[in-house]
Amino acid sequence: MRTAIVVGAGIGGVTAAVGLQRCGWQVTVLERAAELGEVGAGLSVWPSAVAVLEELGVTGVEKAAVPAGMAGMRRPGGRWVVEAAAIGVEIPVMIHRAQLHRLITDQFGPGVTVLTGITVTGITQDAAGVSVAAGEELFRADLVVAADGIRSVVRRTLHPLHPGPRYAGYTAYRGIADVDIRDGGGETWGRGRRFGFAKLIDGRIYWYATANQDAGLGGGHEDVVKAFGDWHDPIPRLLAGTPPESVLQNDLYDLSLPLVPFVTGRIAMLGDAAHAMTPNLGRGACSAIEDAGALARHLESTSDLATALSQYDAERRPVTAKLVKQSRMVGRVGQLDNPMMCGLRDGMLGVGGKVAGLLARRKRMEQSPV
Ligand SMILES: Cc1cc2nc3c(=O)[nH]c(=O)nc-3n(C[C@H](O)[C@H](O)[C@H](O)COP(=O)(O)OP(=O)(O)OC[C@H]3O[C@@H](n4cnc5c(N)ncnc54)[C@H](O)[C@@H]3O)c2cc1C
Repeated sequence: MRTAIVVGAGIGGVTAAVGLQRCGWQVTVLERAAELGEVGAGLSVWPSAVAVLEELGVTGVEKAAVPAGMAGMRRPGGRWVVEAAAIGVEIPVMIHRAQLHRLITDQFGPGVTVLTGITVTGITQDAAGVSVAAGEELFRADLVVAADGIRSVVRRTLHPLHPGPRYAGYTAYRGIADVDIRDGGGETWGRGRRFGFAKLIDGRIYWYATANQDAGLGGGHEDVVKAFGDWHDPIPRLLAGTPPESVLQNDLYDLSLPLVPFVTGRIAMLGDAAHAMTPNLGRGACSAIEDAGALARHLESTSDLATALSQYDAERRPVTAKLVKQSRMVGRVGQLDNPMMCGLRDGMLGVGGKVAGLLARRKRMEQSPV
């Protein structure tokens, strides 16, 4: 039986393990954390990633429901800039990270062994296989999937000249509020600050906020209340309904220089290790899931490992490089601070939203039976 090691048991690593198991590989997952699981708050899972999860047999990620109330983009005072329903945009499933992680790992069968508390420190390969070092311990397999996140040890080992993560210039706060609201959610853009929220499939409200600041300054609930406490309803209610100690704060980084290639011999890079992006499109974990789906599909379609891996690289590298770029661009526009530029931005978004609304209405009319 062919053997694989997956380094890292984040969303990307565990999805890859499920995919490899389905193609008949014997998989060992090496995770440095003491326990298998995810922390964090909510995640948007877009239809393309939901489709991959379904393909891999992961059940329970319901199709998105249309929000109960109006959703879209607003100004801090509450005035609508763009209404999602008018332009007919795709709506992602919103789910807690821990719940999604559990739904994926529920699919682990005898084909997957998980070893926690193992920190990978090095990797080498020869014609017959790959050796993964974790301190004194050595693991060997036919294939390694490196899903060890944005600060990937495997990437640093294979691509020592790659500059690695770059700070985006702003930080993110996340929380979960147990509050009953009818608002459909969306994002509100201010000057150098944004606030977004959406209902999770378990009924709670996931919110996130961004603020321009230097890396490493930290922050917590108090800072979010100070920055957003006077923004439109239900933002202050969401903040009041969030336990202060549960608020997460992360400085945001991406891999500004695309990694080329994603595959080196028998080692495939996947997820943030290969293409970490800022969360402005909510697509990082989705891309990791889609990487895992593509890898499994190519491994299933041919018994030649080199061919399968080069097909994986050719499929996933261009798409994800584009997303990294687009996400960075959305972040730059969203984090504008200058009042004149923000006015111009909001005006253009409003006009763009109206045009998109008219086009969407025309399309609906053309498609509706007479
Ligand atoms: C604020 C914020 C909001 C986001 N929102 C969304 C969203 O709504 N939708 C979305 O799709 N994406 C979102 N993302 C992006 C998403 O979180 C990441 O893209 C996703 O978690 C990447 O998964 P991964 O498995 O590739 O890496 P990770 O989640 O980073 O997992 C890497 C794993 O590898 C382990 N590891 C690391 N080094 C080693 C080692 N040396 N040895 C062994 N194990 C190791 C780690 O412990 C970890 O478990 C968001 C990101 C942020 C920061």
